[in-house]
Order: sequence, then C-alpha cells, then structure tokens
Amino acid sequence: MNDEQFHRYARNMILDEVGEEGQEKLLASSALIIGMGGLGSPVALYLAAAGVGRLGLVDDDVVDLTNLQRQIAHTTERLGQPKVASAATALAALNPGITVETHPTRLTPENAAALVGAYDIVVDGSDNFDTRYLLNDICLEQGKTLVSGALLRFDGQLTTLRPGRHLDDGRRAPCYRCIFPTPPDPDTVPRCAQAGIFGAVAGVIGTLQAVEVLKELLGLGESMAGRLLLYEGKEASFNTIKLGWNPACPACGEGK
Ligand code: ZN
Repeated sequence: MNDEQFHRYARNMILDEVGEEGQEKLLASSALIIGMGGLGSPVALYLAAAGVGRLGLVDDDVVDLTNLQRQIAHTTERLGQPKVASAATALAALNPGITVETHPTRLTPENAAALVGAYDIVVDGSDNFDTRYLLNDICLEQGKTLVSGALLRFDGQLTTLRPGRHLDDGRRAPCYRCIFPTPPDPDTVPRCAQAGIFGAVAGVIGTLQAVEVLKELLGLGESMAGRLLLYEGKEASFNTIKLGWNPACPACGEGK
C-alpha cells in the first residue's frame, strides 16, 4: 500500500476488525453490481470509497431525469449517458485507485455465468424477478455469495444468500427460491414507475447492502445469510426474520 492509500483508508484500518490486513483483502477483492439505479448507486459508491479493488457494473439503461430523485451516482449533466458510464465517472472521481469495469448490458441467461464467474461476490440491485431468480441460480451453480436488496414505496428488504452452501452455524443456507419458490404474477407486483419510491429508502437499503458486502469480503461480524431484514420507512422500524432451507426447493432442495 502506498502513502496515498494509507491516508485514504486510515479510518478503515484503525478498526481492529479491519486493520491493514483487511484493507489489503478489500483491495484484492472484486464485486459485481447488478443494476446501477437506486440500490446500485450507494452500493457502488461505498464499495469504491472503501477500496474494493475491482467493481463490475451491469446495466443496459441510460440516465433519465426521473432517476435522479434516488439514483445518486448520476447527475443532471450526465442525462442520456449509459448508467454504467455515468456511475464509472462518479466512482473514478471518488476513488481513482480502483478498477471499474462497465458492462452496458442486461443480465441474461447467456451472459450471466461469465459475468458472475469473473467476480468474488455479487450484489443484486435489480428491480425485477427474472434477474433475481437468474442470479440465484448462477450463484448456486458457482458457489457465490449474493447480497440481495429490494424496495417498494417506503419499505425495503435485504438478505444475503449463499445458495447451496451453509450458514455460519452449519445449517443449510436457503436460496432465493427456498424463500420465494415461484415468481409472483407480474401484474400484481408494481415497479418503481407505477408504485413510486421514497428516494432515500433506496439509500438505506443500498447502504446496508454495501455494509454486508464488506462484511462478507472481510469475514467480519454476523452474516445476513439465513436472515431477512425488513425496513419500514414510515414506521422507522427494522425487523429481522429467520429464513430456513426448504427441502422442497426447486433449485437447491433434497436430491438436487
Ligand atoms: Zn433453495
């Protein structure tokens, strides 16, 4: 680590749980972030700030004026730019010492395995169930950890998935299909555009995702694997419920 890095990461390294060794670990780590929107923006900014050495950004969309109410990696000046390019500009300004790789594409069954395979950990900041199930299945295949977040109106939720692997207490870890075996009817699930989203709620959940990614990379504290965090913005309440492996799961159940 050079002098600049010692200063940049000093407040990380002064933490006994991180130290110089932990910072070196972060600098040698990589994370793939799916979606450069309300969740992906704070995730990418905080991971870049913390010195995660290589970040992959996946999004096929361009910056639109309606995004700026919550997607804080983008700016008015960058309207119309690909979101991954706009976010890369923000991250380079924040921390030029890390590598940012832009993937201006949608995650598809054709490209998902190669993208996930190229990074240590995956963050789901997407807004649709197709992507969530696809990421779950690829992470199950590859034994990758997936930090998942979701938003609706004033509320959000977060969990860490270790599909096909084990929790810290040795029990089988649930996968996304253990928790939600079948996708809901698309007509019953409103997206941001129809339902609205209280912008700062995206910051709450995205920032929590960044904390959980850093914890997973450092092997620090208690993982959110096997637990689902529910945040209700209007009530200002956080609740955590336990999640268990489902032996009948279509993806990771008994006999799979
Ligand atoms: Zn499962």
